[in-house]
Amino acid sequence: MVTKRGYFAALKEAMHNITSKPVTVMFPKEHVELPQDYRGVPTVDESNCTVCQRCARVCPTEAIHIVETQDGKIELTVDLGRCCYCGECEAICNFSAMKLSTEWLTADFNRNDLIRNFHVEKGKKK
Ligand code: SF4
Ligand code: SF4
Repeated sequence: MVTKRGYFAALKEAMHNITSKPVTVMFPKEHVELPQDYRGVPTVDESNCTVCQRCARVCPTEAIHIVETQDGKIELTVDLGRCCYCGECEAICNFSAMKLSTEWLTADFNRNDLIRNFHVEKGKKK
């Protein structure tokens, strides 16, 4: 049974909600504003990356792989299907090469399309 006190509390809440701005937005037309330190898709600044491999070693989900391709180039891949957006790779990168961006719309039908590729000059390998 609703008490008088409960009734007035509900009425007060309803009046507040009627007169306040909605917290939801009309997605996908509108997006919420993201905080500056939002942890979205990891990206690599290829010109800063030294292929030290620290990001790949620290990644808890083994989402980062660094391989030498057949044509002799270095390829760094980030598998967004495995990434948990923890930010450990950015934190451990001493060269400001790995950064978590504000990109967050990553859903895809094809799992292979969730793999982001970055290419680093071979001479930079350490
Ligand atoms: S992104 Fe940073 S931590 Fe990862 S290999 Fe490149 S320099 Fe090393
Ligand atoms: S954000 Fe975390 S899970 Fe994603 S690639 Fe970086 S270390 Fe791995």
